[in-house]
Amino acid sequence: MDNAARAQIRNLKAVIKNSPPQAQATATGTLLSTSAQDRAILILNAGSSSLKFEVFDLQPGHLQCFLRGQIDGIGHQAHFKAKDGAGLALHDASFSADAITSQHTALVWMLAWLRAQMVGKQLVAVGHRVVHGGTRFTQPVRVDAKVLQQLDALVPLAPLHQPHNLAPIRSLLAERPDLPQVACFDTAFHHGQPPEAQMFALPWRFHEDGVRRYGFHGLSYEYMARTAKSQVPALAAGRTVVAHLGNGVSLCALLDGKSVATTMGFTALDGCPMGTRCGSLDAGVVIHLARAYGMSIDAIESMLYRDSGLLGLSDVSSDMQELLESSAAGARRAVDYFVYQLAREVASMAAAMGGMDALVFTAGIGENSPQIRQAVCERLAWMGVQMDASANAAGATQISTASSPVAVWRIPTNEEQMIAEHTCEVLNLR
Ligand code: ADP
Repeated sequence: MDNAARAQIRNLKAVIKNSPPQAQATATGTLLSTSAQDRAILILNAGSSSLKFEVFDLQPGHLQCFLRGQIDGIGHQAHFKAKDGAGLALHDASFSADAITSQHTALVWMLAWLRAQMVGKQLVAVGHRVVHGGTRFTQPVRVDAKVLQQLDALVPLAPLHQPHNLAPIRSLLAERPDLPQVACFDTAFHHGQPPEAQMFALPWRFHEDGVRRYGFHGLSYEYMARTAKSQVPALAAGRTVVAHLGNGVSLCALLDGKSVATTMGFTALDGCPMGTRCGSLDAGVVIHLARAYGMSIDAIESMLYRDSGLLGLSDVSSDMQELLESSAAGARRAVDYFVYQLAREVASMAAAMGGMDALVFTAGIGENSPQIRQAVCERLAWMGVQMDASANAAGATQISTASSPVAVWRIPTNEEQMIAEHTCEVLNLR
């Protein structure tokens, strides 16, 4: 354990000491009652300023989310929201500015809150979303100190995400070593892609050093491949392009349910334009920004991740819903570029499979915006995409006409469910 990690643990212990009794009990391991019948698993998705959680009831052959929520604004003005499994609001409150200053304090508060909600249930495992598994972790894995060290070594591959994903794992390993933890990777599902899909045309030694296309959003695509194949026959046998359109945006080519190409690459910057990320960019632009504008690597990184995409192009918002409601010329420009690039990238995914039998829209924009789905599908009419306008407007599951050569679907994703399933599988809990 390095000094930084030790300092983090000390910090957590201090936080626990100063927390209300409920929080202390939680963080030091007397959290939940131990009725063997009512087992639960906690799923955590930790970001730079947020900690999202879902709790699943683990019954034989049955995995049901009964609590979900998040703490946003960690380090600034934190806000805690939680709902039950049916979506009924249970808690919605802001903290004072200095109350939740780190992932650790957020975790302690969240566990304390969970304790009160989970009387009669035993927490038996925690599953985590971890952005990068590198070349080593091609499957979900149970985390111990050695695995954590190996995951720490991948921080340079995803410096903006990986440290935050690992923070609660580190805290729980120190405080609850008895509680099994499983890391599930956004990269893992793409591991089996053909070699040409994983390469950059750089000197080969860089590939061997790990500079290659990994792909992300793998838990979302895996969820589709596993659960939607009864609805979308092409996911079982055929050529499907899944469009995961959230704040982060990527596409995946699924051949018989396996990932064979995806738009994100070495980092989650590549491919389609996103809320604040640029998507594909001529590498020469980065060189030019450094040379002609004297921008540092950190300044370029910050701009490409936080100030670009829909936000940068529109100068209005990173939020698609706000752009669609705006009359500003920049909003129109950003939406048009988004649709244009998306259609180009869908065709690129289809080319990797020699065609496309089905197109699936998912995540915030894909699930909720008939306008974007319609605009993308209009641009893909030449490929045999025939949208059923009224089914699309109504938010139906199948939104193509009965005779459309390419079947088009709107299917909600559920990455947390996928993590919960992996956690059970790795720990043999069912
Ligand atoms: P994340 O990637 O952070 O999980 P989401 O999957 O929740 O994000 O997607 C967020 C995006 O979905 C935002 O751009 C938001 O505006 C968009 N979105 C949500 N509802 C709608 C809607 N009804 N119409 C258009 N866009 C929507």
